[in-house]
Amino acid sequence: MNHQVTLRNGITVPALGLGTWYLGENAATYAQEKKALSAGIDAGMTLLDTAEMYGGGAAEDLLGDVIRKYDREKLYIVSKVLPGNANRRHLNDALRDSMDRLGVDYLDLYLYHWRGGTPLAETVACLEEAKAAGKIRAWGVSNFDISDMEELWRVPGGKNCLVNQVLYHVGSRGIEYSLLPWMREHDVALMAYCPLAQAGSLRRGLMTNPALKAVADRHQATVAQVMLAFAIRDGHTIAIPRSAHAGHTLENAGADAITLTPEDLAQIEAAYPAPTRKEWLDMQ
Ligand code: NAP
Repeated sequence: MNHQVTLRNGITVPALGLGTWYLGENAATYAQEKKALSAGIDAGMTLLDTAEMYGGGAAEDLLGDVIRKYDREKLYIVSKVLPGNANRRHLNDALRDSMDRLGVDYLDLYLYHWRGGTPLAETVACLEEAKAAGKIRAWGVSNFDISDMEELWRVPGGKNCLVNQVLYHVGSRGIEYSLLPWMREHDVALMAYCPLAQAGSLRRGLMTNPALKAVADRHQATVAQVMLAFAIRDGHTIAIPRSAHAGHTLENAGADAITLTPEDLAQIEAAYPAPTRKEWLDMQ
């Protein structure tokens, strides 16, 4: 991959990875989903995003099945702990179960999926212990807004958070106002989820927008590819599109070849302007 992101711990990952939400849940489409994920890995999308929540472990099971034939060290595996498990009582078991389903003996990154009732200090202490024990190489958070990040930074060990995974696509740019600048300042990488706005369903008209289409035409690309190129344009962002189809996965990998020009960015800006005030964190 041409587009890569170097995380604060010095690890470099591809800027385009693979999402897995809703995958592995249906026997009839299992083989096809497996092919789609393999095609992505073969194309260089070696960062794999999953969660214990997805299909109640079915996505981790599928991913475990897919990655068996690859060199573990060449993959960057991300999973997430549910809020109800992000505590002293449950985190170690949840992590063990995720690793068992994936068939690995460590995770590269373990994310706190979204904030629940456990005090942040307790969750961070558990994540730091898992890291010290070698079960995870790093940890991060997801769906944290700026006030959550500021609170995290006041907790012992909280500054070791490597990544914040939040919803981000061209039609939902609210984080650019204050959260993203805060993350840049503190060197917390952005992992953009729903980078395709769930095939445009999260923002009506996105996939057929004339400005996006014009940019896509200039690059002999698709609107989906332009959306991904837009998401990763700053060199600090990882996007994790999900597809159950190898054709789409390869199309998404193809976004790596696109570097948007100032003209492209101006045209996109006119259609989907950056926020001018704080907006609520968009979530799925
Ligand atoms: P997404 O990646 O924005 O969109 C997925 C949809 O786009 C699927 O319906 C897929 O259909 C379609 N698609 C994929 N490639 C396409 C292409 N080239 N052209 C047209 N359509 C295409 O949505 P997402 O799965 O919600 O988000 C991505 C990943 O982020 C998830 O899988 C998950 O790993 C993560 N996530 C995390 C959170 C969190 O709270 N941390 C929340 C949501 C998602 P096909 O299968 O037919 O290709």
